[in-house]
Amino acid sequence: MFGEKFQRKYALTAQGVQNIKKGAFWTVIVNLVVMGGVSILYWLMSGFIGTLMEGTPLPGIGMGIGLVILFGLLSVVTHLQQYKATYGLVYNEVKSTRLSLAERLRKLPLGYFGKRDLADLTETLMGDVNRMEHVWSHVLGYLYGSYFSTAVIAVCLLVCDWRLAIACLWGVPAAFGLLFGSRRIASRSSGRIKKAAVRVSDGIQEALENIREIRAINQEERYLEGLNRKIDEHERVMIRGELGTGILINAASVIMRLGVATTILVGADRILSGRIDFMLLFLFLLVITRVYAPFDQSLALIAEMFVSQVSADRMMEIYEMPIAKGAEVFEPKGHDIVFDHVSFAYDQKEVLHDVSFTAREGEITALVGPSGSGKSTCARLAARLWDVTGGSIRVGGVDIATVDPEVLLGDYSMVFQDVVLFDDTVMENIRLGRHGATDEEVRAAARAANCDAFAEQLPQGYDTPIGENGTKLSGGERQRISIARALLKDAPIVLLDEATASLDVENETKVQEALSRLLAGKTVLVIAHRMRTVEAADKIVVLENGRVAEMGSSGELMERGGLYRRMVELQRQSAQWRLE
Ligand code: ADP
Repeated sequence: MFGEKFQRKYALTAQGVQNIKKGAFWTVIVNLVVMGGVSILYWLMSGFIGTLMEGTPLPGIGMGIGLVILFGLLSVVTHLQQYKATYGLVYNEVKSTRLSLAERLRKLPLGYFGKRDLADLTETLMGDVNRMEHVWSHVLGYLYGSYFSTAVIAVCLLVCDWRLAIACLWGVPAAFGLLFGSRRIASRSSGRIKKAAVRVSDGIQEALENIREIRAINQEERYLEGLNRKIDEHERVMIRGELGTGILINAASVIMRLGVATTILVGADRILSGRIDFMLLFLFLLVITRVYAPFDQSLALIAEMFVSQVSADRMMEIYEMPIAKGAEVFEPKGHDIVFDHVSFAYDQKEVLHDVSFTAREGEITALVGPSGSGKSTCARLAARLWDVTGGSIRVGGVDIATVDPEVLLGDYSMVFQDVVLFDDTVMENIRLGRHGATDEEVRAAARAANCDAFAEQLPQGYDTPIGENGTKLSGGERQRISIARALLKDAPIVLLDEATASLDVENETKVQEALSRLLAGKTVLVIAHRMRTVEAADKIVVLENGRVAEMGSSGELMERGGLYRRMVELQRQSAQWRLE
């Protein structure tokens, strides 16, 4: 019952399964102790009634009181144990689940993060885990424990009087049957609610991220309207979903309680025909209220369990996503990057076909081509952010698919367009390039990257906090910080995505200077947008629709008169237009 399938179904850790077992065990004990109490009550009552009706002597009062106190104490102790086993242990489970999910995320291929957006992942780590926590603590232990104790009680009742037992217990399987029969409806609506919730948080995140642009183009109203619509939609599917499950739960609860009516009917019939005495019916009525109690508590939660299936599935998706593995050592001979008949598909559709080229150490290799031709994809593959689908990529003769991505990335510096800066000081943001670098080394890198001038002008110099994602800095300044990071890291391979956003002349010159210091002697693969960079490159790889269209130096390619020449001429024309 508590095997691997159970663990997967509820996205539990191995320890979590143990905890649920403990919770179920204590629930069984609690339910049985309560039943013991009920039996004593029955025993005392029947003695008392016997005295009243027939004048038989009262059974030992002292013993009766002693037993009641004993069971009262037992009940307190077992309830405490149950509480500890269900709630207390589960809080640890929540913590270790979040940690293990985060650890798993850390090891996933970086490309995965491009596929699932941030709002979605945050929702899984926080919201889904919260929802599962409720199921782990409030539902599973109680439910499975109650199944077991009810089975024990059912056997006892059946032995006493099987007709009355059936009249009393038929409602339980009927209620559960109804709920389980309709679980598909519940999980479908939960899927819809989840999607709507992600749309809302996506919308809010997008609005916050782009608030400047939205204001600049005066689109606040339209944006808010869109957001409002998403929120309304979320509310609507939620109400509809809750209404559906609410009706089902209440129906199930009513069906279960019909058992009381049938017990009285059948019991009355059997008393009248003289086959049982009144006290037995009384016992049954006492017992069934106790049988229903734990189920009543969990009926509402069962619905939650169905709904939580979507959360569990989303967590399992993270657990089960294959992680990029590889050797912990990376000892290439030199740092030439060789693309050997590489093909690649993000999902089903192949976007790179049979791409072969070599980026040599000490040279700048430029990737050029129209938008969507596969330049960024090539750069990502070169750093094993994704794994190739066909062919191979070798660095210094070593197939990078055999190297642990974390180890591999130690040899790479990436200067990409979307520079990520943290809400920390300038100094610490640069130090990210190399953990443990001294302040002096950080300053030297900053100087080489032309960060000096602007950093010194900040109120606290290098110790000035730069705001979340560097919002207090200009585009050129942000880029220079990321170049300083790369300079500090001094990795033999540099992947560079030139900014398309035009920088002012002064900034551009400074960025160029910083870059030329960074790139000297490295293996450089650059996604080039500016003619100046392209012309300075030692080798140009022209991509078109995911294939290498041409390859060579700028001079050679101009002479050939192919795609490269057409692009160069087009850019010149547009530059002239801008001047006019
Ligand atoms: P470029 O950098 O030359 O503009 P890309 O390498 O970004 O081109 O894109 C190449 C192709 O791959 C395009 O058709 C693009 O739509 C597709 N693509 C890029 N990134 C992804 C992704 N994360 N998931 C699916 N398809 C993608």
